[in-house]
Amino acid sequence: MNSTEQLLCGNCDNPIEEHFNYCPNCGEKINRLTNEESIILKNLPKQFKYIARHNNLKGDLYIFTTKPYMWEDFFRSNGHQMPFNQFRHIFKGIKKGDYLDIREVENGKEM
Ligand SMILES: [Zn+2]
Repeated sequence: MNSTEQLLCGNCDNPIEEHFNYCPNCGEKINRLTNEESIILKNLPKQFKYIARHNNLKGDLYIFTTKPYMWEDFFRSNGHQMPFNQFRHIFKGIKKGDYLDIREVENGKEM
C-alpha cells in the first residue's frame, strides 16, 4: 500500500483495502467520497453517470455518460466524456485506474 491515508470502514473502523466495496468485517458499504465530493457529483448534469481517474502520470480525472473501460492506462467509453481536472486534487478515494458509478453515490444514505 503506497497511500499515506489508510482507508477505514466508516462503521467499524476496520482497515479497508482500496479495491473493496464492502467492509469484510461488518459488511458496510465503503464510501470513498467526502461529503463535498458527493455534493459535486450530485450536481453534475444527469447524463454523466461515471467518474474515473486515468492511470497516467498526473492521474487525470474524467466524467463519462457510459461505463468506462481501461485501454492502455486511459479510460475510454462509447459515450461522451469530459475532463474533470478542476477536481483532480480532491476525489482521493478514486485512485488511478479506478472508476465510480455516480448513481451509487446518489443512492447513498446522506442527502
Ligand atoms: Zn466495517
